[in-house]
Amino acid sequence: MVSNFDKPDIRGLSLKELEDVFQAMGEKTFRSRQVFDWIYKKGAMDFDVMLNLSSTLRGKLKEKFALALPSVVSEHYSQDGTKKFLLAMFDGEKVETVLIPSKARATVCVSTQAGCKFGCKFCASGIGGWTRNLTSAEIMTEVLYAKSKSHAQPLSHIVFMGTGEPLDNYENLMKAIRLINSSDGLGIAARRITVSTCGVIPQIRKMAAEGLQIELAISLHGYNDESRKVLMPVNKKYPMNELILACREYIKATNRQITFEYILIKDVTCSPQAVRELGVLLKGMICKMNLIPYNPVSEFDHKTPTRQEMFDFQDSLQRAGIHATIRTPRGRDVAAACGQLRHDQKK
Ligand code: SF4
Repeated sequence: MVSNFDKPDIRGLSLKELEDVFQAMGEKTFRSRQVFDWIYKKGAMDFDVMLNLSSTLRGKLKEKFALALPSVVSEHYSQDGTKKFLLAMFDGEKVETVLIPSKARATVCVSTQAGCKFGCKFCASGIGGWTRNLTSAEIMTEVLYAKSKSHAQPLSHIVFMGTGEPLDNYENLMKAIRLINSSDGLGIAARRITVSTCGVIPQIRKMAAEGLQIELAISLHGYNDESRKVLMPVNKKYPMNELILACREYIKATNRQITFEYILIKDVTCSPQAVRELGVLLKGMICKMNLIPYNPVSEFDHKTPTRQEMFDFQDSLQRAGIHATIRTPRGRDVAAACGQLRHDQKK
């Protein structure tokens, strides 16, 4: 279990916060680095293994904090190597975490909320609505659990593309990112951390000012306000032109290219008009487009285009000056689309 109602989980604390706790306990602050080393470098999920701490100190830490293996509801192993975990939080809320190994790297796809309030019309995560934000400790527990399961390659990339809108849980997200990025924590470069958002503009601007080169991915899924509104209600609040402006500002502030996620739904998103309008919208922008074949969810009536239709659309985008690649679906045999497993489990 990730935590309980009485004690905070130690994985939610920054090194500075833990040093302050040690100081208040009358302990040497360098001990907090040893604890960090156990958790982030050696993968400890139990205070008892921290043998360079005295048993008295371990006892004090146990009294004050929770540190445990997450409660694993189910694990699913895809034929393509993708591993999907359904983890239960302290209050029984379930979240899904996906480990995606490839030849050269291992990526974990992390959830940031239990459910989602944005209700995109192709996504299983939004169907049951939003329950609550995950704490930074819960987010870190997902990451650390996936790390412990990544055997062939060390965990190298983090993508915040699981259930929930990461920028709607901004403070916990940023705290987790700093723990992942810090050399005292997991030491994973910001350029290997991707935050995917449906387009929460004020938070995109806030993240641009963090001084970190975090990769930004935008769920675009439409070529103008009309088409985007149909699939993404968030567009009513944050229209496309302003979103694209915030993206251009983000590129300027971070010097990073932006990825636009674009779902391929037959007769909905991949038309000649879409190519024309996207060409104008993204003109001159340092960006790439990730084309995602629609992964069927029974509640929605969409269809996946044929392979040829997808290639034709990709080709037209390239000719319009947009660098586009088609994402290879991973883990389809274990319902690895965003929120699908959690949703299936709730049905
Ligand atoms: S795509 Fe993202 S923002 Fe939209 S409903 Fe799914 S999890 Fe929420």
